[in-house]
Amino acid sequence: MVFDFTEKEKGIQPRTIWCLGRNYAKHAKELGNVVEPCPLVFQKGLNALAPVNGIQRLFRDHGAVHYETEIVIMLDRNNEGPFIAGIGLGLDLTLRDLQSELKSAGKPWTLAKSFDGAALVSRFIPSNEIPDLDQIRFTMMLNQVVSQRGDSSQMILPLEKIPAYLEEYTDLQPGDIIFTGTPEGVGVLNPDDEVSLDLAGHHMGTVRFS
Ligand code: ZN
Repeated sequence: MVFDFTEKEKGIQPRTIWCLGRNYAKHAKELGNVVEPCPLVFQKGLNALAPVNGIQRLFRDHGAVHYETEIVIMLDRNNEGPFIAGIGLGLDLTLRDLQSELKSAGKPWTLAKSFDGAALVSRFIPSNEIPDLDQIRFTMMLNQVVSQRGDSSQMILPLEKIPAYLEEYTDLQPGDIIFTGTPEGVGVLNPDDEVSLDLAGHHMGTVRFS
């Protein structure tokens, strides 16, 4: 797995990939979901991890694949507990047709969210290089057209509170990563699409789907 990690993060592999859902009110509404004070939480397996870089194969046999552009945080911990060490961007790829089927049948979404290559992650910027974690703007360009814009100030559970929220249930480990939810504007990916991600003026990565 090749990530453009900073020197400090090199060699650290995540043990878990946590994901928040419905952490932006407008996105929850665009999918017809109720907005609640706490986001929902799910995981993707490490099999799903791939870089926002080069060419990735697009799943074709199970209906629509949606992109969800999200701030991804990489954790470290000290005596006081987990903290945000790195800030990146990711694409939470979702088999939306399958997810809708599973949801309406009351079944878990795992296959819709954790297929190989479903967790695309960019390089990470050390969090101390970001002036205010609760005001991070990001942009996703699909074939050079802006398709999603987000700002961490719009999160229902603020970015800096997310590690403590999960820590109530688990001892988060250095290298663990968390997808923090998508703003509105999710959509379908097609073969030959190119996605480019930008966080606070930093180019984070470009990926093309085959
Ligand atoms: Zn998501």
